[in-house]
Amino acid sequence: SKWTAEDIRRDAKEKNVHFIRLAFSDVNGILKNVEIPISQLDKALDNKMMFDGSSIEGFVRIEESDMYLYPDLDTWLVFPWGSDNSTKIGMLICDIYTPDHKPFKGDPRSNLKRMVNKLSDKGFTDFNLGPEAEFFLFKLDENNEATTKVNDYGAYFDLAPVDLGENCRREIVLVLEELGFEVEASHHETAIGQHEIDFKYASVVDACDKIQIFKLIVKSIARKHNLHATFMPKPIYGISGSGMHCNMSLFNKDGNAFYDPEAELELSKTALHFMTGVLNHAKAITAVANPLVNSYKRLVSGYEAPVYIAWSAHNRSPLVRIPSSRGVSTRIELRSVDPSANPYLAMAAIIGAGLDGIEKAEPVPEPTDRNIYNMTSAELAEIGIEKLPGSLHRAVNELENDEVVQDALGTHISDNFISSKRVEYKEYTMQISEWELQNYLKQY
Ligand code: GLN
Ligand code: MG
Ligand code: MG
Ligand code: MG
Repeated sequence: SKWTAEDIRRDAKEKNVHFIRLAFSDVNGILKNVEIPISQLDKALDNKMMFDGSSIEGFVRIEESDMYLYPDLDTWLVFPWGSDNSTKIGMLICDIYTPDHKPFKGDPRSNLKRMVNKLSDKGFTDFNLGPEAEFFLFKLDENNEATTKVNDYGAYFDLAPVDLGENCRREIVLVLEELGFEVEASHHETAIGQHEIDFKYASVVDACDKIQIFKLIVKSIARKHNLHATFMPKPIYGISGSGMHCNMSLFNKDGNAFYDPEAELELSKTALHFMTGVLNHAKAITAVANPLVNSYKRLVSGYEAPVYIAWSAHNRSPLVRIPSSRGVSTRIELRSVDPSANPYLAMAAIIGAGLDGIEKAEPVPEPTDRNIYNMTSAELAEIGIEKLPGSLHRAVNELENDEVVQDALGTHISDNFISSKRVEYKEYTMQISEWELQNYLKQY
């Protein structure tokens, strides 16, 4: 590991850190933290920090609520701003352990580590993830509440003065860099007020931690600019929603296991089988990759978001695309995932599906190089292209019928997730929306 407890103590002292956030993610992917003053750092580094798990979404029942935070030393970071002029705030991302020193089965991060270990058992040394998170920047109203009014009318790759979000985005990038992120690109996205910032791929647990930190930074810096950043998948009807394309590759001791210079498309059998597993389990994966009622308003045709379960090396309409770079950067891009997903859960599900694909080595579906959206339903049926689930309700049903993806989440998480999503969906279906009032109130 990069950091030792001693390094952290020294760094905290040198940087005048007075508060430390011990952070972890709940089942919904919301970052939680308990903040300790520096006097408690030793206790925290000794894995002695306790908290009440019963008040965290999807964790445990009252009678078994004591949980311990085990900081992952390599996640140590110091925020470039302070609590006032003199003291700084540090953060450690933690795994959650039970009082008998076992990884807690309801902890999404520990569960992802369990899936990474399954990959190691098969001889894979690394699973890399490069996420492309999109988000909107919205204006605040006079009470500092978020609106859905954009602050610019830019489009894809536009630049200032059209793109007023540019200063905000630039500051986000600067802060990310100070925190050790290697930002590869930052640009205006297709929709008004929509942006994307891409950082370099990393080993999957590290990359998921970075996604969590990324969201925190984007939201914090947006506030400084009197804006509200949202990762809600489809905040506005009629324009593009926000996705989080996931670029993924698998390594073994010889290098990128997805690359085979001799093979067709230079894609190895491992790559094709992993992808086939993801396609075969795509419906169940959707429940975790697109976990909100709102996610399904993005997964419709006409906005560059996937609808059909298919793959291609040549066009961007299917669920899985193979970007053109080869060699060490050979990867598959899953385009359904949206930024509201708990990244640890989405990745665990994808790894579980990919491993199943490798184990079963089932036939690889033919690539679809035509634009699927121009095909008739008869044509789609003939080549056997199915759709992703069209609602959270259907996606959860798919998850409930998919043992492989349930195992990838572990029973504790999977059961909690399914029941809490059922409640969420039921509550939603009973609401009366603006659309209904507009269309029905006067008419009937
Ligand atoms: N915003 C699109 C989506 O919902 C993606 C656009 C792009 O990056 N090409 O996935
Ligand atoms: Mg992109
Ligand atoms: Mg994009
Ligand atoms: Mg992309």
